[in-house]
Amino acid sequence: MDLRFSADELAFRDELRAFYRDNLPDDMRERMRLGHSSEKEDTIRWQRILNKKGWAAYSWPKQWGGPGWTPVQRMMFLEENQLAPAPDVQVFNITMIGPVLIQFGTEEQKKRFLPRAANLDDWWCQGFSEPGAGSDLAALKTAARRDGDDYVVNGQKIWTSTAHMADWCFLLVRTDPQAPKRQEGISFLLVDMKTPGITVRPIISIDGTHHLNEVFFDDVRVPASLRVGEENKGWDVAKFLLGNERTGIARLGRSKERLSFAKEAARDMRAGGRPLSEDFEFRRRVAQLEVDIAALELTQLRVVSAHDRARDGRPDPLSSVLKIKGTELLQAASELVMDVGGPLSMPDWALELEALSNEPELGPSWATDATRSYLMLRAASIYGGTNEIMKNIVSKAVLGL
Ligand SMILES: Cc1cc2nc3c(=O)[nH]c(=O)nc-3n(C[C@H](O)[C@H](O)[C@H](O)COP(=O)(O)OP(=O)(O)OC[C@H]3O[C@@H](n4cnc5c(N)ncnc54)[C@H](O)[C@@H]3O)c2cc1C
Repeated sequence: MDLRFSADELAFRDELRAFYRDNLPDDMRERMRLGHSSEKEDTIRWQRILNKKGWAAYSWPKQWGGPGWTPVQRMMFLEENQLAPAPDVQVFNITMIGPVLIQFGTEEQKKRFLPRAANLDDWWCQGFSEPGAGSDLAALKTAARRDGDDYVVNGQKIWTSTAHMADWCFLLVRTDPQAPKRQEGISFLLVDMKTPGITVRPIISIDGTHHLNEVFFDDVRVPASLRVGEENKGWDVAKFLLGNERTGIARLGRSKERLSFAKEAARDMRAGGRPLSEDFEFRRRVAQLEVDIAALELTQLRVVSAHDRARDGRPDPLSSVLKIKGTELLQAASELVMDVGGPLSMPDWALELEALSNEPELGPSWATDATRSYLMLRAASIYGGTNEIMKNIVSKAVLGL
């Protein structure tokens, strides 16, 4: 297996770098560099710049507004986007509902939703998890009863990221409670979030932000024309979507970017009377992370080139390894940035107290944001399938145990 990039691939990466240098707005780059999570406005603004270039829907075929890139080109694009650092493309639009509609949608659904998803004219959210159905997703209970040309939906979803800002939700519902296998009674619906009967309730995360929600459905009428795929065959759609969700999940570019930020910030911090960047323990942690990132990068290249050759577009179970190790590295890199800030990485609530007492700022804003980011990234080993579930997949599908 030749893991070197071809001349064309290297030229493509240069093209990406030039585009990021010339087109990523400075204010946005600086907010991302300081470790802020991207606000809705920045995500929309950046995605529209990418879409104008034909790159926002980076994994879609040309026919539906994507660039028709190879897996290696997609990997390079994600890495450069994270290294820039730029806001991520809106994941529910681009890696979830877009590919699902391309694969399973009717022509009408494709024409209606795909261009708007690419340009972020519609903001999508994912209504899969329920209080009793997370890892065991097939246990979901939210019910959709057919009534004429509509389904009537009743039930509850939880952990629905960005539901409070979403225009549309793709929803897994139970349409046949009597099906012999739980997976056989599920359908996949597209729901307009403005439909009467939907209530969105915030869940505030440990980092103090409102990103997650509970969503309640109370006699919500959804036209049957907004079902994707056949009735009771939604599990196939969901499996396809979850496979795509794990592709690109290693986020190596982000880990590299955080590590490089930690090294830069450590030059301005003092430890034992010297710059922190000269501290032995700090240098050991940096070296360990650099070695681990380089090792995972090779694994990622193996997965991507195998995907290119043999799997006909289906996700490789090895991508679960990328998810496990990639999230561990991202968590470690975010912890390192927070530790570089030391006592200055105090969480927001402390700064609010400080503002009340009119004291000067305790420390640079990147340090407090580093704590926010560290806390938020604790969830990286939970969403997109927990790392324990990923280990089950690796043990069965990769190691054959
Ligand atoms: C920040 C964040 C954003 C999210 N966004 C969304 C979203 O937008 N839409 C959406 O639908 N969902 C979303 N989720 C939900 C996410 O998909 C679930 O949290 C995840 O699937 C785990 O389900 P659970 O929380 O019910 O935990 P459970 O499934 O109850 O698991 C609890 C613990 O038991 C372990 N466990 C469970 N089963 C097994 C097993 N068979 N073997 C070994 N260990 C096991 C798990 O690994 C975990 O540690 C989000 C979650 C988070 C944290």
